Amino acid sequence: MFNFEAIYEAASVNHAVELLKEHPNAIIIAGGSDVLIKIREGRLSECELISIQTINELRGITIKEDATLCIGPIESFSHIAENTLIKQYISVLGDAALTVGGPQIRNIGTIGGNICNGATSADTASTLLAWDVVLELTGLGYVRYVPISEFYIHAGKTNIKNGEILTSILIHKNSYENYKGFYYKYSARNAMDISVCNCSVNVRLSSDKKAVEDVRAAYGAAGPVPLRAYKAENAIRGKKITLELIDEFADTAAKNLEPRSSYRASREFRIHILKELSKKCLKESICRCGGIINGTV
Ligand SMILES: Cc1cc2nc3c(=O)[nH]c(=O)nc-3n(C[C@H](O)[C@H](O)[C@H](O)COP(=O)(O)OP(=O)(O)OC[C@H]3O[C@@H](n4cnc5c(N)ncnc54)[C@H](O)[C@@H]3O)c2cc1C
Repeated sequence: MFNFEAIYEAASVNHAVELLKEHPNAIIIAGGSDVLIKIREGRLSECELISIQTINELRGITIKEDATLCIGPIESFSHIAENTLIKQYISVLGDAALTVGGPQIRNIGTIGGNICNGATSADTASTLLAWDVVLELTGLGYVRYVPISEFYIHAGKTNIKNGEILTSILIHKNSYENYKGFYYKYSARNAMDISVCNCSVNVRLSSDKKAVEDVRAAYGAAGPVPLRAYKAENAIRGKKITLELIDEFADTAAKNLEPRSSYRASREFRIHILKELSKKCLKESICRCGGIINGTV
């Protein structure tokens, strides 16, 4: 049923990258919720696997002295959703993690696997893009840092080089301090379903709560890779909050996204939904920041 050649269990990050050097065609397996399906379907048959599931260095959600949040890539969606640091500083990531699959998938699937599989629809990918996270990639004898905006190259292809693994997800203080956000996944069913499309927005308001000081908006299944809506962000940054501003944001975002037609939904339907999601996520983010939209909080 699961036709693979060998599995090596890495005891540390260093051991994992050494194993990757010895077995350059081997595939990293974390929770296995993507990899095992591909093996079962014959898409990765007779491969070698390197398991990183028991490497403690890759676990944990911590905060550094400079207030950078660090998420270990083999943390499960369930752990992320329950974690107190996530709830306190970047609760939207917990909200997104809770929309993944069902309880079994949330217990076994990892945030690192969700990023590294390169799927445009991945629920945590757009959310992490809207948090402007930095990814720590470790190879044999070196570590490099890649902003998530430079991580996705094209459909299913990421910036991880041969011999590297994702070792940490970093969210700097200036990316999350005073920001609040909202995530919405649009799918045909509420459980066990991949996004038709999704949207994650974070905003920071002016001190009088009347203007959008900064905004970051990211989308899943709105193009071949998770996408930011930079033009829409620029269109409203620094401006007074009005319903017209929210419409302008949603219109600009919809014009600059590139969804395709698939068996889940047509391109036209996705554009329509993405526009509505943009409005909803921006409005909810503003409300979570204590902002006022046309007299309503
Ligand atoms: C029934 C079902 C429902 C699902 N529903 C959803 C859903 O609603 N939303 C959603 O986003 N996803 C969903 N998924 C997809 C899947 O669960 C996620 O993508 C999950 O996060 C993958 O994590 P994993 O640890 O299981 O990855 P694995 O299968 O172990 O690995 C996935 C890929 O990432 C690579 N990889 C993993 N960790 C690292 C690392 N640290 N460094 C380098 N490469 C690494 C692997 O080599 C592989 O290419 C679903 C899957 C199933 C089976």
